[in-house]
Amino acid sequence: MYRCVNCGAGMRFDIASQQLHCDYCDASMAVADHPDERVASEEDMFDVTVFCCPQCGGELMSTENAATDFCSYCGASVILEGRIGKEKSPDLVIPFLKTKEECQEIYKKKIHSAIFLPKEFKDPDHIDKIRGIYLPYWVYDVKQQGDVSLTGTRETSKYTEYLKMDCHIDNDYDGVTRDASSAFDDRISDFIAPFNTKSMRPFTPAYLAGFFADISDVSGDVYNESVKNETNKRTEKQIDSQYPGASINYPPDESAAFGTEITSMKSAMFPVWFLSWRRDDRVAYAVINGETGKICTDLPVDKKKYYLGSVLLAIPIFLLLSFLPTIRATTLVTVSSILSVGTMLIYAVNSRTVYRREEHLDDLGYQAKLAEEREGEAGSAPVPVEHAEAKKKVKSDAVKEIVPSVIVTIIALLVRFLIKPVSDIPYYACAIAVLLCSCYVFTVLIKKYNVFATRPLPEFHNRKGGENYE
Ligand SMILES: [Zn+2]
Ligand SMILES: [Zn+2]
Repeated sequence: MYRCVNCGAGMRFDIASQQLHCDYCDASMAVADHPDERVASEEDMFDVTVFCCPQCGGELMSTENAATDFCSYCGASVILEGRIGKEKSPDLVIPFLKTKEECQEIYKKKIHSAIFLPKEFKDPDHIDKIRGIYLPYWVYDVKQQGDVSLTGTRETSKYTEYLKMDCHIDNDYDGVTRDASSAFDDRISDFIAPFNTKSMRPFTPAYLAGFFADISDVSGDVYNESVKNETNKRTEKQIDSQYPGASINYPPDESAAFGTEITSMKSAMFPVWFLSWRRDDRVAYAVINGETGKICTDLPVDKKKYYLGSVLLAIPIFLLLSFLPTIRATTLVTVSSILSVGTMLIYAVNSRTVYRREEHLDDLGYQAKLAEEREGEAGSAPVPVEHAEAKKKVKSDAVKEIVPSVIVTIIALLVRFLIKPVSDIPYYACAIAVLLCSCYVFTVLIKKYNVFATRPLPEFHNRKGGENYE
């Protein structure tokens, strides 16, 4: 803790002034001027209190030991258990630039027009629980140097141009970042990116005073391939922009061809504001980039509000339709079938997205942690594992939820285009059946959307952070 030189109370890092501030005697001082500062910056380790959530096992560290009464990971209102320890200092830090009040305004603006949100989202007591957390990141510098021969073609209106290019590549990409915590979904960190790595400065615990920090538990090597690929793609873009309209054949092993090397890998802490909302066994996050104010929120739909809204919307549509010239029965079948196929397509896309996210299939940091637990080894980029059980459940759900609709739609189309009854009644029956099925698929879709807009409760009990604690 940084003690005030005037009164001895704990100081905190004040965002507005970017200085240490004492709330008791109103003293301010630059981070570098504090007497403890020199001591801290020479040590590789610094003192922390690690707070652990008894419900989910999530850990947050802080330089203070004041009691905290809610968990930012799972949204539980519980007293977090604190223990004293030491953490390895990261190399770099970006201090908070956006204040709590500014971020609360950004959040309020964002949810303002989301009319189907559960009402707690707008509750001031809830919004007050937004918490400043430093997230661990890896920062890479990448160099590319080498000569490469490329071929390509360019179509003009009269002929095809064959291109042969000898390129000399000499590129520096500084400050490519990856999130270093398995607790934090890569999707959120990608969304609130980028952080301006130019505003990074050497880490000192003073920047942590009054905030929390997540613990780094993903080794930086996990991202080597992904970082190299990112810079290779950026180089491709550069080359492409020099030959507009050309399609260039890039070699399969670009890292070798471009001479891509990671020249430096540093640990850093980046600031985010974090708010979590919990209902039953689901949690929703609002995360705001503490430097730029970019926001990423989960926006679940309150079912009651949604149904009420749909009924209110259905009434004018129904009135409008009844004023239209009578629609022919056959057209009705065709239109409702198209609608049905549409909802089924949306269903298929959504099931896949929800499944991939629930299983964290696209989260490299999470998968690396899993791979480490499986084999006890870390390092190379992990191959995501799909659970046979989860996959089976997606399939059996699909059978229950969508097959009836498929069958009814096929029957309706057969009636419409093959059997072609003379009477209108079979057409109306088909159209109504198809529409009812679509309604059902739509209800399932809202349920799926809510799974998509929220997350399963996190579980960190097997997380291996804390090797450094005494
Ligand atoms: Zn003071
Ligand atoms: Zn928790």
